[in-house]
Amino acid sequence: MRRLLLVGPPGVGKSSQGARLAQHLGVSYLSTGALLREEVERGSPIGRQAAGYMRAGLLVPDWLMLFALERYMSDALASGFVLDGYPRTVEQADRFLRSLGCARLDHVIELAAPDDVLVGRLAGRAVCGRADDDESTVRARLDVYRAQTRPMLDFFAAAGLLVTVDGSRSEEDVTTELFGLVDSSAVQS
Ligand code: AMP
Repeated sequence: MRRLLLVGPPGVGKSSQGARLAQHLGVSYLSTGALLREEVERGSPIGRQAAGYMRAGLLVPDWLMLFALERYMSDALASGFVLDGYPRTVEQADRFLRSLGCARLDHVIELAAPDDVLVGRLAGRAVCGRADDDESTVRARLDVYRAQTRPMLDFFAAAGLLVTVDGSRSEEDVTTELFGLVDSSAVQS
């Protein structure tokens, strides 16, 4: 059973790569951003609480994230997973590792790309309609990533779990590298 976290700044391609990777491995794929956007679209109580934070490019509070995740986590833990967008802070990582108990993570994969590549890609995506893809919100999301999410990567690096993959290349090239990475580690483990 494989358990992977996918971490990276907005626009780096986490969702498309995450879905491909999960399908390749035959495990659940969960994007907390997509999960929250569905709640917002449905106008659910979780969505109504989350919408303002998301529009501003800020993280939703932990209690709300945990509440939204509750009913998906046990399935993911039982079947293996590629998690995209969670955990996203040192505190969330700490809590998440405790919830895993003795189960170990295979990899934490950081997809990395320079800011100008990310801003350019997101400007294109804004046309297709994500409410938080306009330029000022993208800048806020990049700041949040640097301030709140990057420090979490030191934590996983110290645990020997972090692998960094260059996400600035074509989608196909990135997918090839990711498949190679998970396939070779499957042989070793
Ligand atoms: P994403 O699609 O991963 O870029 O997430 C979109 C938005 O959902 C973020 O800007 C946050 O507002 C919210 N979000 C997603 N995952 C989390 C998380 N783990 N903790 C807090 N907020 C989150």
